[in-house]
Amino acid sequence: MAVLPILTADHAVLRQKGKKIRTSANASLQRLIDDMIDTMRDAYGVGLAAPQVGKSLQVAVIEIPEQEVLVLVNPEIIKRTGQRQVEEGCLSVPGYRGLVWRSETVTIKALNRRGKEIRINRATGLLAQALEHEIDHLNGILYLDHLVAHEKLWKIEPHAVVPETEAAGMPQEPGR
Ligand SMILES: [Zn+2]
Repeated sequence: MAVLPILTADHAVLRQKGKKIRTSANASLQRLIDDMIDTMRDAYGVGLAAPQVGKSLQVAVIEIPEQEVLVLVNPEIIKRTGQRQVEEGCLSVPGYRGLVWRSETVTIKALNRRGKEIRINRATGLLAQALEHEIDHLNGILYLDHLVAHEKLWKIEPHAVVPETEAAGMPQEPGR
C-alpha cells in the first residue's frame, strides 16, 4: 500500500474518459484500489478517482465519514432527480472551492472490487455529491464545469486549517 501523488487539473489525463475494467481478478487493480484508499485518506478526501493518480481507468473510491469505504468499478449513473447548489472542492484543484449544481438524488450501478454488481439507490446529501463528483472524474469532467456562475469559484487560504477535501462541501440542505 502506498500514497500516490495526486495530479492537478493541468494534467491531460484528468480530461480523458477512463477505460473500463475487464476483470477485477487482477493483482495490479487490487493494488491500485488499496493505494487509492491510502491516498484518499492521506489527503483527508471523501473520494478519489483513478485519473487523479494518473490511471485512465473506471475506478473510484469514496469514504463518507463513519461509513464503510465504497469501491466503484465501471460505475454508471442510472438516474438523477432534482437540482441543488452545493459548495465543492477537489484534490486536483487545490486552493479553490466553488458553488456547483448537483442532483438531489443519485442512483448508480457499479461493480465492487471483487467484480460483484452493486447498486446504490437514491443516494442523497454528501454521498450523492461524491458519487457525481467521482463518476464525473471518470468521464473527464471536473467540478469547475458545473459552477453556478464563473464568479462562484474562490480561493481559499493556502494555510487554512481546513484540509483540502474532495467533494466535501457543506451540502446546503437541512440536517447535514
Ligand atoms: Zn475531484
